[in-house]
Amino acid sequence: MTKSDCSEVEELCCRGGALLLQVRNVIVFLPGNLEFIQNYPIMKQRQFLLLSMAGLVLLFFSFHSSSPTVPPNPAPNNIILLVGDGMGLAQVSYLYVSSVDRVHFSRFQFNGLHINTPVGDRITDSAAGATAIATGSKTRNGAVGVNANGVPQQSLLELAALQEKRTGLIATTSITDATPAAFFAKVRNRKDQDSIALQFVHAPIDFAAAGGFQFFAKNKFQGNLLDSLRASGVNIDTLSLPAKSLDPSRRYVFLLGPDSLYHMVEKDRPGRGNFLPDATKLAIDYLAKGENGFFLLVEGSLIDWGCHNNDTLMVREELRDFNRAVGVALDFAERDGHTLVVVTGDHETGGFVLSPEKETRIQGMDTTVIYHKERIIPAFFTKEHTASLVPVFAYGPGAERFSGVYQNTELFEKLKWQ
Ligand code: MG
Ligand code: ZN
Repeated sequence: MTKSDCSEVEELCCRGGALLLQVRNVIVFLPGNLEFIQNYPIMKQRQFLLLSMAGLVLLFFSFHSSSPTVPPNPAPNNIILLVGDGMGLAQVSYLYVSSVDRVHFSRFQFNGLHINTPVGDRITDSAAGATAIATGSKTRNGAVGVNANGVPQQSLLELAALQEKRTGLIATTSITDATPAAFFAKVRNRKDQDSIALQFVHAPIDFAAAGGFQFFAKNKFQGNLLDSLRASGVNIDTLSLPAKSLDPSRRYVFLLGPDSLYHMVEKDRPGRGNFLPDATKLAIDYLAKGENGFFLLVEGSLIDWGCHNNDTLMVREELRDFNRAVGVALDFAERDGHTLVVVTGDHETGGFVLSPEKETRIQGMDTTVIYHKERIIPAFFTKEHTASLVPVFAYGPGAERFSGVYQNTELFEKLKWQ
């Protein structure tokens, strides 16, 4: 359609009583009394009818695009990011073939894949992986919250706090471990957990639940950081999560183990129980009482450790636990309607595969290999991280932005509040 066609439409409209509408920046033309065009030449009558039909098509798509599957406002009030450390697609698949519970991953609306290569290597560790997601900067393995040149980067959690949103961190290992640390600390070496603990004291965190109290109780730089936290008005508990809901005017830190928390399955003692889903629920109930929304990170930290150990029972139980936390987040997001939930891993660990059972039969000189496709045998190719793409699952306002294949740093761009 040329510019002169457009001006002709306006002229017809004025003379014939037809409607010229603007629907969401789209000009839509609807015919009024058709008799008025009969005095026009045949060419102009055709132009008029074509433009009218085009207008109806545009009107249809305009209304269609505002259907409930695409939220009208892409800016969520709250963001819950759940990271399964070491969780690739085979690990998620293992939930589907082994879970006794509902697999909540089916509740997501959009899926994507991220590329997780760090600077200077082909395969990432959790520090570089978490830094990419938390700050949008690729960095070297081992670096936490700083770019490849060691320059500190602002994190999603810090940006949320600047917008006066409440913030929370949950992990099943130490709060000073690489994944949660990338959201508040800036150190060149992830092993410097005493520095990370020191930075935690000054970070804008309203709620934290994890392990790691040894780095606070006997910090090599400042002695007892727990006292510093208490002095700044933080409620600290090193024994258990509370049964009752939390006071929205206070800040809370739960450090329930010296370093990592217990695994889901322990040899000679009870496992971790419902810590992760319970802490997720406790945090959401508390953070949602703020006026400006919240950002919450939940890490299923020990999926990675199970994969490093090539321990299928540990991987299965840590995945099931993480799945329950995902369910808690989605239950809230469904009720709330203004919460974006994103689940991903930082990288894949173990080269995990779900193979058919293999049987080798030897009869005399003959060897026959039979694959029993009715039985799945989970197995690992390595004890290290791998370079596989990692799946992303998204639900809620803005979830459609997480479709596609992109760098892990783009997760930061998609997650940060505009
Ligand atoms: Mg981790
Ligand atoms: Zn690992």
